[in-house]
Amino acid sequence: MSKISSRLAAIEPSATLLVTQKAGELRAAGVDVIGFSAGEPDFSTPVHIAEAAKTAIDAGHTRYTPAAGMVELKRAVAAQNQLVRGVPTAEDEVIVCTGAKHVLYNYFMAMLDEGDEVIIPSPCYVSYPDQVRLAGGVPVLAPTSVENNWVLTPEALAQVVTSRSKVLLLNSPCNPTGGIYNLAQMKAVIDKAHSIGLYVVSDEIYRSLVYDAHEFVSALYSDSVDRERIFIVDGVSKTYAMTGWRIGFGIGDREIVTAMTKIQGQAITNATTVSQQAALAALQGPLDFLPAWVSEYEQRRNTLVHGLNGIDGITCPMPSGAFYVFPDVRAILPRLGPNATDVDFAAWLLDNANVAVVPGTPFGAPGYIRLAYATSMTLIKEGVTRMAEACRRL
Ligand code: PMP
Ligand code: GLU
Repeated sequence: MSKISSRLAAIEPSATLLVTQKAGELRAAGVDVIGFSAGEPDFSTPVHIAEAAKTAIDAGHTRYTPAAGMVELKRAVAAQNQLVRGVPTAEDEVIVCTGAKHVLYNYFMAMLDEGDEVIIPSPCYVSYPDQVRLAGGVPVLAPTSVENNWVLTPEALAQVVTSRSKVLLLNSPCNPTGGIYNLAQMKAVIDKAHSIGLYVVSDEIYRSLVYDAHEFVSALYSDSVDRERIFIVDGVSKTYAMTGWRIGFGIGDREIVTAMTKIQGQAITNATTVSQQAALAALQGPLDFLPAWVSEYEQRRNTLVHGLNGIDGITCPMPSGAFYVFPDVRAILPRLGPNATDVDFAAWLLDNANVAVVPGTPFGAPGYIRLAYATSMTLIKEGVTRMAEACRRL
């Protein structure tokens, strides 16, 4: 009998967390590393939210809440869902979990039987396939391409469907590509999913971070909506710069919410009470800080894309949303060695330029790298200069 469960055999540690941890260790050892790996806002949680949490502690909000979350917070999430997605929502269609990641985990645990397939447009967020595997499901990657702004087409979806397909996972704006579905694209893929009878889980954690003339379109915007089958993942991590507070929201069919609540009640009881109070203040408070953040991200994106495209062998498309760029580095790899990969290139950049990036392979995209621009303009400029200088020596 092996010590560790065989369930873990097919699971990789999170690549995003690993690179960020390695960069942190090097920094602690005195190496001046510029980090493009951590996908979290560098802004501070707005003061009114932090203050609300302090007040909540003093007011004694330090006990358990119901497993699915505080009623006031669920009501606020339901109201926000109606505002953002135009869909009337009841509080029992909402669950509050420990981050959006945990919403997804509970969802897969609630929905999947052994061998059920989850279709995931690829490239995708590193944790999706492993979460599906942990829940006994089978991740099935459906390719998207830069030519199509990394959006899943109905044809590409149809090609991977089997009799075991159960769930389609959408993520717009997308980590790592920054791709966004417009209304026509969203309708097309949702209609196809419905015609096949798939459930849809839509990770909309980056919904506030869209640039240029792009608009966020929710999976719930589609007219043909069969609401019961569409489950929304949202949260406060990105919109309100609250990654460490660990609060995410699941919104959808009551039966699914009830099943997820059963899992949550047995696993964690409830998401941290003080953080729920902070999330309530976030949802009820002003959003006046957001336009300045979005405009700052957009300028950083422009600078980073421009700088990377100035490096021979790197081609960086302009992403539409989130805070990542996802350049194609295939042309530079042969200069590193005959069989060099994006993983080698990322390691080489860390050693030779003191710049931390995440390789594309764990996102399902060999030959690419991901850089997060949730870092200051000064560091972005310095990081690109270092990369350019190192690459020139190749
Ligand atoms: N989904 C995507 C696409 C993400 O990039 C992230 C951030 N790592 C998450 C979910 C997890 O968000 P949270 O920090 O709220 O768990
Ligand atoms: N959103 C982040 C990222 O993709 C945070 C790390 C994680 O949750 O994987 O880098």
